[in-house]
Amino acid sequence: MTADLRSCLEFMSVKEIVDENFQDYKKASMFICAKSCDFKCLTELNKNINICQNMRVSKLPTFDIKISDIFDRYVSNIITRAVIIGGLEPMLQFHEVYSLIYYFRKNNCPDDFVIYTGYYYHEIEQYIKKLQDLDNIIIKYGRYIPDSNPRFDNTLGIILSSDNQYSERIC
Ligand code: SF4
Repeated sequence: MTADLRSCLEFMSVKEIVDENFQDYKKASMFICAKSCDFKCLTELNKNINICQNMRVSKLPTFDIKISDIFDRYVSNIITRAVIIGGLEPMLQFHEVYSLIYYFRKNNCPDDFVIYTGYYYHEIEQYIKKLQDLDNIIIKYGRYIPDSNPRFDNTLGIILSSDNQYSERIC
């Protein structure tokens, strides 16, 4: 995985933006659904990808939205205090994710970003280090494993579906 970060992007491709989400982080959040996933959680286990929890959103049409429009939408909502990027696999569009967070920081918004990834730290270490240039970011790591036990995650303040999954504040 590579991303040329010498310049920030103006647009992000997404499946869905939910202005107010209350179930994936302890703070009311805008939820941005990434545009794609390689469905590694299921293919690595030789399971049908249709049991992915995110199959519904994966079938939605993808659309491009200006990062400045996402920002304007977020700051005009007095309820939300964080932004979550998840749904599918945000790290497959890392340059867009970085550009989005960079835009928020450049415009004096220090609010929490939460990134839900199916990867583990060792698979995306170079991206995590790059994100540490920015502030207030929490990463939820790990594959979804069907029939695994759920576990409560203290950092997120919610129950994750597989007990191999965890989150940490990286900056
Ligand atoms: S990373 Fe998320 S969307 Fe992709 S296969 Fe795993 S659970 Fe499904």
